[in-house]
Amino acid sequence: MKPPRKLHIKSYGCQMNVYDAQRMVDTLAGEGFVETVHADDADLVILNTCHIREKASEKVYSELGRLRAAKEDAARDGREMKIAVAGCVAQAEGEEIIRRAPVVDVVVGPQSYHHLPQLLRRAQHGGRAIETEFPADDKFGFLPQPRPDAIRARGISAFVTVQEGCDKFCTFCVVPYTRGTEASRPAEKIVDDVKRLADNGVREITLIGQNVNAYHGEGLDGRSCTLGRLLHRLAEVPGIARLRYSTSHPNDVDETLIAAHRDLPALMPFVHLPVQSGSDRILAAMNRKHTVRDYRNVIDRFRAVRQDIAFSSDFIVGFPGETEEDFSATLALVTQIGYAGAYSFKYSPRPGTPAAEMRETVSAADMDERLARLQELIDSQQSAFNKAAVGATVDVLFERAARNAGQIVGRTAYLQPAHVMAQLDIVGQILPVRIESLERYSLLGELAPSPHAHVSRSVPSQISIGA
Ligand code: SAM
Ligand code: SF4
Repeated sequence: MKPPRKLHIKSYGCQMNVYDAQRMVDTLAGEGFVETVHADDADLVILNTCHIREKASEKVYSELGRLRAAKEDAARDGREMKIAVAGCVAQAEGEEIIRRAPVVDVVVGPQSYHHLPQLLRRAQHGGRAIETEFPADDKFGFLPQPRPDAIRARGISAFVTVQEGCDKFCTFCVVPYTRGTEASRPAEKIVDDVKRLADNGVREITLIGQNVNAYHGEGLDGRSCTLGRLLHRLAEVPGIARLRYSTSHPNDVDETLIAAHRDLPALMPFVHLPVQSGSDRILAAMNRKHTVRDYRNVIDRFRAVRQDIAFSSDFIVGFPGETEEDFSATLALVTQIGYAGAYSFKYSPRPGTPAAEMRETVSAADMDERLARLQELIDSQQSAFNKAAVGATVDVLFERAARNAGQIVGRTAYLQPAHVMAQLDIVGQILPVRIESLERYSLLGELAPSPHAHVSRSVPSQISIGA
């Protein structure tokens, strides 16, 4: 029997890349590859890349520099190491990658990685293989299902892609170019995936998509299905205790999604709803197709059906033309909404996007200063949100042994890590935990005496609720 070949895969960027990396591992398991955590002894290294900001793209080239040395060492030991670049940089730059980094053997875009086995064969004996077309075949129809042992090894929480691509064309964003137009998977396939995951110990599912609430796949009745209806169906799958979804666009929040939050206890009251800016002028220049008021109305609709709901968001500072007044409007919106956390980024011009042509750029110093102010505000809101959990009893879904001996870590409904001293057999269970203290972003507590006691958590009073 041939010894297994070793595969090392490194993923950058979003949750969808984490999901794609797992599916690449599943695809290559059929070719006799097993995963290794070390790049140096791997027969195949895949960099699953992100193109969303310049910094993310450039990381790939510095990593390829390091891998060149590893590949040369392997050759000196009589081993062959293949290097593949997958993901959105592969899609956006194609052949250019091999020109800049001749160490690369395979370049494969995010819609074509089900062809990895064939591409690797084409790249044998010093050849190169590049595939960055949007193929006519749907990759999901070709990807092998993960093996039960692989599902178990990945833990009790899993991502499932339900839609890909985006038709929104925000002027700063490369996603519509790298991931293609919006496409949704049929509900039946998603239900099958979730059942298989649940049968192998998964308790929490996060449905993912670049614009997940634009989901409109074929429903079980043959008609178009919304994300809200899909969530209703998935809540019935035995074993699934928690459902989440990410990332949503404010314009695609429909009544079925609001109803899902009203009706489904398994649907966690924590929504990532990016707004990008608090200025209508900037939102228009970004082509977001909604105003600040529209966004606030969407937040209010969620809050009307679930008082304990909390939000996170994404912000871009220093978009071309952003004035101090525009930026102040962003701070005002953050203050008004009160977030449990948020991501904020300096605007990064992406080649080929309309915003990259805009002339009125914001200086690096202004961007740095605005980012620092915004992050300070968001951090203070996040701290207040976390502090409000101290003294409360909250439900925690336990995930794994923590770094400290005897501690088990899980997550609250709001994705806050929570640590308790307990036996490992609580992994996979949702148990009430009395929170005693806060250490940076982690909650520390002890298991509450009765497993049935459940005190629901309300939005912290320090955070004002938007009008
Ligand atoms: N679809 C989601 C939405 O509509 O908000 C977000 C998808 S994008 C992968 C994640 C985040 O990256 C965006 O919300 C935005 O804040 C940030 N981002 C995208 N393009 C960017 C750019 N050119 N410069 C800085 N940040 C960017
Ligand atoms: Fe990018 Fe999101 Fe805008 Fe689509 S909706 S273009 S993914 S930022």
